[in-house]
Amino acid sequence: APMSTDYDYLVKLLALGDSGVGKTSFLGQYTDEVFQSKFVSTVGIDFREKRVIYRAPNNSARAHRVHLQLWDTAGQERFRSLTTAFFRDAMGFLLMFDVTNEDSFTHIRSWLEQLRTHAATETPDVVLCGNKADLATRRKVTEVRAREFAKQHGMPYFETSAASGHNVAHCVEKLLELVMTRM
Ligand code: GDP
Ligand code: MG
Repeated sequence: APMSTDYDYLVKLLALGDSGVGKTSFLGQYTDEVFQSKFVSTVGIDFREKRVIYRAPNNSARAHRVHLQLWDTAGQERFRSLTTAFFRDAMGFLLMFDVTNEDSFTHIRSWLEQLRTHAATETPDVVLCGNKADLATRRKVTEVRAREFAKQHGMPYFETSAASGHNVAHCVEKLLELVMTRM
């Protein structure tokens, strides 16, 4: 049977954030439950897929088969023109910074601007992830600060670790819920 008949929804999500924050590791952890500690800089754009069953919180009896496409961007400026084309197609955004890297948190504002400029809607569904939460001794951005920022911008916030898997699935499921609520 053709692929298009065996799922109810195709959901495209895009991971955004500075280079090195852990986007590729996070998506690898989510789709394959593996973590590679070697740093491989993503060139341009790439995607991974996963099938999930979605149940709305208020109607858990109804199960939807979702085909998730997780688009992975390169954070480098030089690829920005390439990746902006993918903003339009995405239904939700995983916006990520590294809790041990102050600059990556500061840059979230400009990623939000990029998003508002290039996304298909002016109020896209976004979840903020403070990744590398396992590196407690190297932390620069407190959870309180990140949570406050997320609240001001109307985004759910998760502290995640692509290394341990902490909150990784949770974060994607929350974004999926936001996207599915709109459909
Ligand atoms: P990307 O450029 O955003 O795709 O970042 P990568 O996924 O390539 O990760 C950059 C580096 O950070 C790699 O060396 C990863 O192993 C490491 N890394 C990613 N996520 C975590 C995490 O949650 N905890 C720790 N300790 N290291 C991480
Ligand atoms: Mg990458």
